[in-house]
Amino acid sequence: MPDASSPTPSLPLVTSGGELRTAVAAARTAGRSIGLVPTMGALHAGHLSLVTASVAQGRYTVVTVFVNPTQFGPHEDFSQYPRTLDRDLSLLAAAGAELVFAPEPGEIYPPGFSTFIEPPQVAQPLEGLCRPGHFRGVATVVLKLFHLAQPDVAYFGHKDYQQSLVIRRMVADLNVPVEVRVCPTMREPDGLALSSRNAYLSAAERRQALALSRSLFAAAELVACGEQSAAVVHKRMQQELATAGIDRIDYVALVDPETLAEVANLSRPTIALVAAHVGRTRLIDNLLLGG
Ligand code: AMP
Repeated sequence: MPDASSPTPSLPLVTSGGELRTAVAAARTAGRSIGLVPTMGALHAGHLSLVTASVAQGRYTVVTVFVNPTQFGPHEDFSQYPRTLDRDLSLLAAAGAELVFAPEPGEIYPPGFSTFIEPPQVAQPLEGLCRPGHFRGVATVVLKLFHLAQPDVAYFGHKDYQQSLVIRRMVADLNVPVEVRVCPTMREPDGLALSSRNAYLSAAERRQALALSRSLFAAAELVACGEQSAAVVHKRMQQELATAGIDRIDYVALVDPETLAEVANLSRPTIALVAAHVGRTRLIDNLLLGG
């Protein structure tokens, strides 16, 4: 990860949709392909890996930094969500992004705004049950960002696996002319998936949070050793969380990678997902088993 404190080239920051369109149109006229990386800021190496994937392909890389109010529930962490724009800009400049779009909420949701995307079926289980309305907000803002930036390719993380399926399905269903690429989850050396919300964790909670990735790695190991029973693997995952003292588990799930339907048998590639509360912080993680 580049050092946020080192001097970096300046990076254009725009806050209005009009400025974004103008800058992107100029890049396109100059023959550039456009890469879009939507984020909520508080950037870490996971976000930057998406930027790097776009930059490596020579794209004019636009990063959006917007804490989207419509994807947060009324009792969620919208107001506390970390906002670190100056640091984000340094990191993005060092990573080779060429434009940042960081609008105020009123730019995206002006007075009178009332049109929302009804998300696809794949939004219903898992996060959809735990966070009603979340994917409606995600799909709406992402479609707006697609219309504003008109990217050739948009980059998302496997870390938010269900979100990537929702976006892919929306793009297919609504004929949005963008290619969606899903990049691998970046982890700390000890396995913890990078997340902006990790900043909320105390040292003790950080140790506890490791149980999420540990449960996924334990599942992968069982499958690698020939275990095919989802019930056995599910139980093992829950044990890892319980042993760490995590008692607020939203879900532990073994599902089909395309439909998110629960599976009983692990003979085919399966996604293991976990969502749990560590202290006051809700964390999610997932891993492809048998892929
Ligand atoms: P967020 O700022 O949390 O909305 O995330 C913005 C994008 O970064 C989403 O496509 C996420 O899936 C992706 N992302 C978040 N964490 C990671 C990670 N640890 N590794 C790779 N991508 C990530």
